[in-house]
Amino acid sequence: METAEIRRRWLTYFENRDHTVVPSAPLIYDDPNLLFVNAGMVPFKPYLLGQQTPPWPRATSVQKCVRTGDIEEVGKTSRHGTFFQMNGNFSFGDYFKQGAIELAWGLITTSQTQGGYGLDPERIWPTVFRDDDEAFALWRDLIGVPAERITRRDENDNYWHMGVPGPGGPCSELFYDRGPEYGAEGGPAVDEDRYMEFWNLVFMQDDLSAVRSKADFDVAGPLPAQNIDTGMGLERMASLLQGVDNLYEIDEVFPVLDKAAEMTGKKYGAHSGHAASSSHPDDVHLRVVADHVRSSLMLIGDGVTPGNEGRGYVLRRMLRRAVRAMRLLGYEDVALPHLLPVSKDRMKASYPELETDFARISQIAYAEEDAFRRTLAQGITILDTAVADVKAKANGGSATLGGDQAFALHDTYGFPIDLTLEMAAEQGVAVDQDGFRTLMQEQRARAKADAKAKKHGHADTEVWKELRELGATDWIAYQSLSAEGTVRGLVVDGEQVAELQPGQTGQVVLDRTSFYAESGGQIADSGTITADGSTLKVIDVQRPVKGLVVHTVTVEGGPVTVGSAAYAQVDPDWRLSACQAHSGTHVVHAALRQVLGPSALQSGSYNKPGYLRLDFAWNSALSEATRSEIEEVANLAVRQDLPVSAQYMTLPEAKEWGALALFGETYDEEVRVVEIGGPWSRELCGGTHVAHSSQVGAISLTGESSVGSGVRRVEAMVGIDALRYLGKERTLLSQITGLLKAQSSEELPERIHELLTRVKESEREIARLHQQQLLADAGRLVNEASDVYGVQFASVDLGDGAADDARTLAIDLRQRFGNDRPAVVAVTVTAKGRPSIVVATNEAARRWGVQAGALVKVAAGVLGGGGGGKPDLAQGGGTNPAKTGEALEAGEHAIGSTVPTR
Ligand code: ATP
Ligand code: MG
Repeated sequence: METAEIRRRWLTYFENRDHTVVPSAPLIYDDPNLLFVNAGMVPFKPYLLGQQTPPWPRATSVQKCVRTGDIEEVGKTSRHGTFFQMNGNFSFGDYFKQGAIELAWGLITTSQTQGGYGLDPERIWPTVFRDDDEAFALWRDLIGVPAERITRRDENDNYWHMGVPGPGGPCSELFYDRGPEYGAEGGPAVDEDRYMEFWNLVFMQDDLSAVRSKADFDVAGPLPAQNIDTGMGLERMASLLQGVDNLYEIDEVFPVLDKAAEMTGKKYGAHSGHAASSSHPDDVHLRVVADHVRSSLMLIGDGVTPGNEGRGYVLRRMLRRAVRAMRLLGYEDVALPHLLPVSKDRMKASYPELETDFARISQIAYAEEDAFRRTLAQGITILDTAVADVKAKANGGSATLGGDQAFALHDTYGFPIDLTLEMAAEQGVAVDQDGFRTLMQEQRARAKADAKAKKHGHADTEVWKELRELGATDWIAYQSLSAEGTVRGLVVDGEQVAELQPGQTGQVVLDRTSFYAESGGQIADSGTITADGSTLKVIDVQRPVKGLVVHTVTVEGGPVTVGSAAYAQVDPDWRLSACQAHSGTHVVHAALRQVLGPSALQSGSYNKPGYLRLDFAWNSALSEATRSEIEEVANLAVRQDLPVSAQYMTLPEAKEWGALALFGETYDEEVRVVEIGGPWSRELCGGTHVAHSSQVGAISLTGESSVGSGVRRVEAMVGIDALRYLGKERTLLSQITGLLKAQSSEELPERIHELLTRVKESEREIARLHQQQLLADAGRLVNEASDVYGVQFASVDLGDGAADDARTLAIDLRQRFGNDRPAVVAVTVTAKGRPSIVVATNEAARRWGVQAGALVKVAAGVLGGGGGGKPDLAQGGGTNPAKTGEALEAGEHAIGSTVPTR
């Protein structure tokens, strides 16, 4: 059964049983504790934790997940992918253990002809938590699973909590017996490879008052509402229903593996069969390629781009590991353009946006491969120099590359250590691996210490809770730009202090403030606080806990003490610009929906003085005409001088009114609705705004782009900055007009078109001349061919040039020789400092036993590298461009040793 079908059956099954189908959230979800969504329950957390009222009692989803923890394990176990899909069913205070168990059993044991998965009930082994007699009894008595197939396991395996006080509960996991060929008898406790976990049912029933570790916590009592959260691995079910050994062999993944095998000429499973547990390195590399290519596709699809930290780094690592694995398999050419489309074609049935967005996705992936290839080229040069250096110093003795050098290559150039080992070994040089490992460990320890320090810096909410207990901030940002109050608390590095010293940076809490704290996409106000005769420059304002406004300041002047009188003053220019930008955002949003239709809903925004950007649901790029229309509608609304007002009401009232709320935001009982021109724009919003739309000034769209599947972004300049932006564009245009000696800017498109046409023609002419030159040389080379024991041999070093030229010329020369007499052609070329060689043989030469592949090996060896290919045409390369002449000679000699002497 195809994975897409397993997924479809899941959703249908639960939908028919009163579950609301909720689409997968993107992999990047608004949760500061998570790099990526790693379980189906993540988007439902507010409901499961009782922070929000769930809109439905039952829900189901197939959630995209990425777990980065196991990246090194990929390909070595049978059941862990970095990207996978978790099918879940959820009950919020509705059914509990019995319902969850019955639903799960029903789906997996109903026959395939009746819409189920048709697993053999005899091979299913449930586990329950040690003390959970209730679940044990349900499996045994209600479902009829024999007691000896139900395993009781302890906190380490079968108890779920979030690592903090709050909800927790026992789990019941379902394992499938894959048969004796996979391991020892005896159930999940004995062998988790033979008995594979595929579904976890979590029964949230306990209220935990303290959590010290995974297995050490205190249960305060029962939860008021019991919830169900389950997760079934879609890929694991697919591997069972498709009868394959592991996740990498299912229909959504295997075609990429297969393609990689074809490209590298490897036969998957040839060495040790398919069993993941006894894998040959080639098979592991192939699985890594398949897994990482798919994960990268999904990550880029959801808006991640390669970078050096956080999410971007995870993506970069996966892309580079995939490319690297292809190299280890002997494939050195550009690989991703052959692999990524295969993965996309397999995944698009479930995620059609991968197809529509593929131009963007592939561009990002291919650019990263290019960057990595450049890194490798650079690393190889540095490594070669270092190796030559230690060799010279060793003076013929045994040479070792220092751990610090290997570390520098890794750390500075991102050059993988296994590559260093391999390439050093090729030149007979060892690497101080212990030294390398020590340096790596030191670096990791430093990174850990950094992370800890960072965590201490801002995640420490204790201090804010203490200050909040002194009372909520009297917040008058809507009414006034200034506020008189007193200093209620001072904080430095997460600790309360009595005084802030001159020059110091810290946090100030006042009993009353007029400063706007960053929220709803609007950045914090700028301004000053004066206290004790000194000035505090406000550099940030946040609301770390509800009701508490915290200013981050630097002290200019004397010390400031807790309890002193304070005067908060927001910079009025700043505030006006901030109001313009925020009202401008609402205007652009309304204009977007007026032009594109109501489905163009905002999904996020950011605004600061002079600038705004807005992300909205839309699938395709906006045409130039549409952009202009949106800009026109927005500026007409500004010109109409529409009144802007804010009013408070309940959330249902606001919805009744048609006010737009942001998906994924949490709102209080009472909400604030900001209107521009009555119903033209109504949004839930806590930001600051102008009083009339004309105060926004000009709005000028500066850009439109994609930021993830189905999400576009528009950017605009606002107010005086919009005018400045247009002025700059005008200057630029007149510069170009001058450069091209055009009469006016109107002539530019035609001028540039003309120029480009001429450039193209010249390029064509150059290519033609180049080709002519090559062919002229060819005639001469054939005439001057030498005779090696009866074999005609023509060789030439093209010097610097394109790698393709060598091939074209070799094939052309061979053809000129015809087939009457044996002939061999060898051509070298140096592209970007790397020499390569192509050897071609005609049929007569092959009949004499002269093989192009064998000759290339010898010649490329001289160049300090390797190569290979077919008997008629082979290619190789190396690192030393100074040796091309010597390499061609070696090739010529090698002919002598293969032809029969007569
Ligand atoms: P395991 O112990 O096998 O690593 P887990 O206990 O970490 O799994 P859960 O957190 O309980 O898994 O997730 C629920 C289900 O999601 C599992 O039963 C499994 O089917 C699936 N799953 C978890 N991790 C992965 C992964 N890396 N690749 C594929 N499927 C997974
Ligand atoms: Mg589990």
